[in-house]
Amino acid sequence: MKKTLHHIPTNNEKIAKNILESISDAVITTDLEFLVVTWNKAAENTYSWRAEEVIGQPITQILPQDSGKEELVEMVKQLRTQGFWKGDVIQQKQDGTKVYITSSVSVVKDDVGNPISIVAVNRDITERIQLEHRKDEFLGIASHELRTPLTSIKGYTQILKRLVETEPASPKISELLKRTDIYTDKLNGLINDLLDVSKIQAGKLVLNNSKFDIDSLVQESIESVQPTTSKHEIVYKNTVKRKIVGDRDRLEQVITNLLSNAIKYSPKSDKIEVTTTNDTKFIKITVRDFGIGIPKNKQSLLFHRYYRVEATEKTFSGMGIGLYICSEIVNRHKGTIAVASDGHHGTTFEVTLPIQL
Ligand code: ADP
Repeated sequence: MKKTLHHIPTNNEKIAKNILESISDAVITTDLEFLVVTWNKAAENTYSWRAEEVIGQPITQILPQDSGKEELVEMVKQLRTQGFWKGDVIQQKQDGTKVYITSSVSVVKDDVGNPISIVAVNRDITERIQLEHRKDEFLGIASHELRTPLTSIKGYTQILKRLVETEPASPKISELLKRTDIYTDKLNGLINDLLDVSKIQAGKLVLNNSKFDIDSLVQESIESVQPTTSKHEIVYKNTVKRKIVGDRDRLEQVITNLLSNAIKYSPKSDKIEVTTTNDTKFIKITVRDFGIGIPKNKQSLLFHRYYRVEATEKTFSGMGIGLYICSEIVNRHKGTIAVASDGHHGTTFEVTLPIQL
């Protein structure tokens, strides 16, 4: 018997409607004035608004965004120029409770390329975000708990060091105590970084601002990092004679971190260059190494929490939070941090800070 292909009657519109109603993401379309045209079942479940309550209403009124007007303006701008926008936003359900959404918005065009409407595909990620918040809280509590016994260990090694100085002991004991002290400081540094991450997450990173000399800050940072390497020489060129306003300790943390990374990620070179320059409004600090470099396509991810370049993460130990903390501190000073590398021959980090906050 001859096989025939059965023609299944397809009513495209109906199929499209069925897909829209079955899909688990909220799919919302609006006209070019942002008035709601369609609102699927998942949108009803996500936001508790029923379709008939929202159709014809301005989407910005139905789903006010917690991040406010600025983000909305940015989104509209990108829709106009590129035709799409992607991002995470906090919105509200009908009863005002918050809902975390990862959203992808596109301009729908007709056959000849004219924009006719806007479609948003919104996924509710509230549970995942709440879990992340709980993890951050845990991080804060755990690092706090770890720090308490560590403070005692540090105290006892200090006492032992003093005892060894006054009472004769084998030189081996002094050496071991010195090393214990170094590792205690290292552990303290790691725990403080974890605490910083949880402070940043909770929005509790507070700046203690004062007016200070940037040159002496950079010099002190170099002096504290130089003894940790016997291979590298940190060369410093300064042309800045200005004081700036900011949190001195936090900015020292930034520079020390960049210097430690420069040493860690350049095991085969022997030089690190630091420069400070300024114009009337900004000072610029650069830290340049001649190490492994950072591939161009990874550079935009560097300042994200827990990010490490995969190809080298097994060779170099680390938690992937140093640059995240640096960028948060610099952002809090209304400054910028940028990276430049051709991916092979070293890396330059550039921190720009306003002279007045
Ligand atoms: P960590 O060094 O603990 O991994 P960071 O947040 O300080 O964390 O850095 C994130 C990642 O960026 C590192 O894992 C490394 O892959 C890359 N990186 C940072 N600084 C440099 C550098 N100077 N040279 C090359 N890669 C670097």
